[in-house]
Amino acid sequence: MFRRALSRALPLLSNGLLREGIGPRCGPASFRFSLTSSSSSGTPDPSILPEEESREDPESRKPAISISIDRSGLHNPPEHLHEPHTDSELVKHLKSIIKFRGGPISVAEYMEEVLTNPHSGFYINRDVFGAGGDFITSPDVSQMFGEMVGVWAMCLWEQMGQPGNVNLVELGPGRGTLMVDLLRGSSKFSNFKKALNIHMVECSPALQKVQYDALKCMDEATNDDSSSKKTISMVSGSSIAWHSTLEQVPSGLPTIIIAHEFYDALPVHQFQKASRGWCEKMIDVSEDSSKFRFVLSPHPTTASLLYLTKRCKWASREEVTNLEHIEVCPKAMELTHQIAERISSDGGGALIIDYGKDGLISDSLQAIRQHKFVDILDDPGSADLSAHVDFASIRHCAEEASDGVSVHGPITQSQFLGSLGINFRVEALLQNCTEEQAESLRTGYWRLVGDGEAPFWDGPNDLTPIGMGTRYLAMSIVNKKQGIPIPFE
Ligand code: SAH
Repeated sequence: MFRRALSRALPLLSNGLLREGIGPRCGPASFRFSLTSSSSSGTPDPSILPEEESREDPESRKPAISISIDRSGLHNPPEHLHEPHTDSELVKHLKSIIKFRGGPISVAEYMEEVLTNPHSGFYINRDVFGAGGDFITSPDVSQMFGEMVGVWAMCLWEQMGQPGNVNLVELGPGRGTLMVDLLRGSSKFSNFKKALNIHMVECSPALQKVQYDALKCMDEATNDDSSSKKTISMVSGSSIAWHSTLEQVPSGLPTIIIAHEFYDALPVHQFQKASRGWCEKMIDVSEDSSKFRFVLSPHPTTASLLYLTKRCKWASREEVTNLEHIEVCPKAMELTHQIAERISSDGGGALIIDYGKDGLISDSLQAIRQHKFVDILDDPGSADLSAHVDFASIRHCAEEASDGVSVHGPITQSQFLGSLGINFRVEALLQNCTEEQAESLRTGYWRLVGDGEAPFWDGPNDLTPIGMGTRYLAMSIVNKKQGIPIPFE
């Protein structure tokens, strides 16, 4: 299976990525595994990079001390609760919802407010990634991640018959790093590049701005009086637009959708088995109103009647009876429904990469603040909340939404990147780099495809890089007309 996939990806790698030898990406982003000064351990010499392919500005190359941890690999015990002296705006808001509702709110409602409340949600007003942020993701680990996703997108575009106009949609683009690497990596494929209309689905105005800058965007007037404008990314010359939901992305064109670490940010309901049956875990305020606490619903809730019942129908009796807790994500179900309908009517396909499993998720919701696990209820809005992704539910939802799509995977990230040729890519990059860059490339490569703790690590144990190769999974939903996407054959 993987040999066939590689034989289709290789022409792309050798025509552009390999032969042209795009240099290793510079900047501290690739060196965030440990407490390091990136100036000494890895900032590459920019002089070896062709000017147009170096995506970092000199400011971002300044030495930076960074501590970074991949959020799914953390295993610290929760920190002790500490009481903020005064309630934040978000805490006041959550307490007022509970007060006026006259009872507790669901974990899903809490998670949605904490992450995306338009005034004070975790993602809304700041850059939460990398050094000084709360966590890092694969695009930050290595440029090869976005490049390989680009190879996947180009292969799919070829399977789609190389349409002259295609929507490339990214859901939750973070800092825009994946899209920059995808566009830079595919820049030699002019027909693909020319076909692209890029759409970024991002709820955070602050991150929209970060993405705009990362993609070197410029606004162009579309008529003489400059009353309307379109935005162009100078990385590829493509038009680019921002939306806060997928629904707002114009339909009618064949579409390629990428969702990397997006589903894990969607709010989950939590259910717990009790003597009276499955109850929903809810969030209330303590009697003295000083802090939040979990309570169990006394009766079945709407979510348990609708979503838990629906999800359990897709599971075996044994799978359900073995669990004391179940998480269900209705927003993931809705989103998958929308993706499947759009892919079915407009053609194209979607790629979903995230951590999770191909089955029911038990009790996975976690909070991370500045690279450490913390209590979910502690100082909401100051820590990231995320939950493992239920890939089986995505498959069932897509298949239920439309007969016009087929669902492939999940396969592990290691299989996905390996089949698309990451081994060739790392070898090519290693031909043209300094020893420091080589070390960073090898570590980044291992981090993306490796499993467990890095065997070569000789730094402090608590900073040992953890491989993401088997914990992250890739799934694809495509229009049936295109056949099976690589590398899911
Ligand atoms: N894909 C990026 C970032 C993942 S973090 C990466 O891999 O680095 C999640 C991203 O989704 C952030 O950009 C966040 O602001 C955005 N986001 C979270 N919930 C969202 C929602 N409901 N609608 C739109 N964007 C959302």
